[in-house]
Amino acid sequence: MHLKKHLSFTALREALSAQFNQIDDLRQGAKVDYPLHDCLMSGFAMMFFQDPSLLCFQQRIQDRMERNNLGTVFNVGTIPKETQMRDVLDWVSPQAIEPVFPDFLHRLQRGKQLAQYQFINGMYLVSLDGSQYFSSEKVHCPNCLITESKNGTLRYHHQILQPVIVHPDIKQVLPLAPEQISNHDGTQKQDCEINAGKRCIQKIRKAHPKLKFIITADGLHSKQPFIDEVKKAKMSFILVAKPTDHKVLFEWVNELTQLGEAGRLELTDSKARRHCYQWVNNVPLNGTKDADDVNFFQFHIISKDNKITYKNSWVTDLTVDRSNVVELVKGGRARWKVENETFNTLKNQGYHLEHNFGHGQQNLSFVFFMLNLLAFYVHQILELTDRLYHTVRYTKFTSRKEYFNQLRCTFRIMLFNSWEQMLTHILDPPMIRAPG
Ligand SMILES: [Zn+2]
Repeated sequence: MHLKKHLSFTALREALSAQFNQIDDLRQGAKVDYPLHDCLMSGFAMMFFQDPSLLCFQQRIQDRMERNNLGTVFNVGTIPKETQMRDVLDWVSPQAIEPVFPDFLHRLQRGKQLAQYQFINGMYLVSLDGSQYFSSEKVHCPNCLITESKNGTLRYHHQILQPVIVHPDIKQVLPLAPEQISNHDGTQKQDCEINAGKRCIQKIRKAHPKLKFIITADGLHSKQPFIDEVKKAKMSFILVAKPTDHKVLFEWVNELTQLGEAGRLELTDSKARRHCYQWVNNVPLNGTKDADDVNFFQFHIISKDNKITYKNSWVTDLTVDRSNVVELVKGGRARWKVENETFNTLKNQGYHLEHNFGHGQQNLSFVFFMLNLLAFYVHQILELTDRLYHTVRYTKFTSRKEYFNQLRCTFRIMLFNSWEQMLTHILDPPMIRAPG
């Protein structure tokens, strides 16, 4: 692990500043007490420390010492009042923040950190998953999705489709820009997610014209319109395909299997469980006349006492054979890893933050979500590349929660010149005698 200069905390913070300042330039003649940069960066710092009281505590340090950590560590010129920060951020276009995501990915690429994420044939696996980050019966804005329960109660939601670069063997994940599922997308959940999915694919291709991607997603997406969009963007796919959604496909698979045309592989692991792989290439995705030809594979695990403990099936454009089927299954399963381990943290934090920060009347809810996602992204990059961050996290603290408690407390009560100085202090705190 090497500390790459353009991947250090300060470099990433400067990249954020540069983008935030550019948004500032786009505002025309608006009368504001606080520069937009300071509002956005203060919001980011709150998410970075997962601390809703951050502005209050920094103002106290400022009042006493005429300097504060938001200034020294995050380059915030003037600490905004919380209500004013919310008012300002409500009018920020979430699209204006988006360029930060490809910028961070390019930095990882230049720092030789991205190559380790290559999955099959130099392609990057992008897990695409719908997720809800806000739900309420009371609070809402014009961008909310609305559902009506049987007794007529309305519930308001915000949902996104979140693409994330994952590798089955790497703990850290790299988020790409999220796509809002909007209330103009359609009436059915499926329409909404598939339309957002199409926009998302186009956006990823536009931001990264040269990278090779495999899109992996759940059964909602293994439909012709989405697959056509993926192909048009010159990407590959591994998509869950369930028997209930794909009757014709499974009839073909079963018939070809009976004819002995299916590939098979069985491996036994160290716990005496049998891993069973099966595949058939070139079968029609559905029963329509112009159906796509896809390749099919399925996988199940049989425990020592002969119970099926896992079972799933996928379609892909990659030709499946004995040499790659194990990897393809790993790829198809990688999205669960994101859902279960990593992304849950963020989603739960998202809920937490919603309650503390407010919803806004325009974009506030999504702007906060994006700042939260960027804070998460910076944590992931620092875990991957920053030796000091890594050392403090893993030698001093047993859990992420403990680590963040300590970061929050230290940042609240002491003044530092830099992020690195703060980490060094936590790693090796000076002994201070109590007064008296
Ligand atoms: Zn809303």
